[in-house]
This record gives sequence, structure tokens and C-alpha cells, in this order.
Amino acid sequence: MTEQEYTICNGCGNQVKTGGAPPYAEGLSVTKTWGYFSGKDGERHRFFLCEECYDRLTKTFAVPVEIEEETELL
Ligand SMILES: [Zn+2]
Repeated sequence: MTEQEYTICNGCGNQVKTGGAPPYAEGLSVTKTWGYFSGKDGERHRFFLCEECYDRLTKTFAVPVEIEEETELL
């Protein structure tokens, strides 16, 4: 679990304390393997955004993020 305590945010370059392995509880970690017809055939893209950068990104969306209340939070 101590393998990767901190992760660099791709948006702002700040270190974010994440702890453990992806998917992290804090911030947004994305791993995307592009398909054959995408023009990025077979490429795997990976990035991490801290909460601030996530908020900044999602504010630019034409359609807002869907939000549901998680009922089983610790
Ligand atoms: Zn950031």
C-alpha cells in the first residue's frame, strides 16, 4: 500500500496525496486504451487530475457531470 503515496496531477503538476494504488479515492485517475478506429490504435493513455483540476475541467462540459449520492461511504 506504500507503493505510491503521492501522484502528480497532470493538470497543474502538483503532488496529490493519494496513497495506495489506482483507482485513487482522491482525484480522478483515467486509463484509456484506444480502439482500432480511434486513430490512436492500441495506445494506452493514462492521466491523473486533482480535485481542483477536475472541477475546472468539468465546468467546461456542455452537459454537466451526472452526480449521485453514494450511500455506502465509510
Ligand atoms: Zn491539478
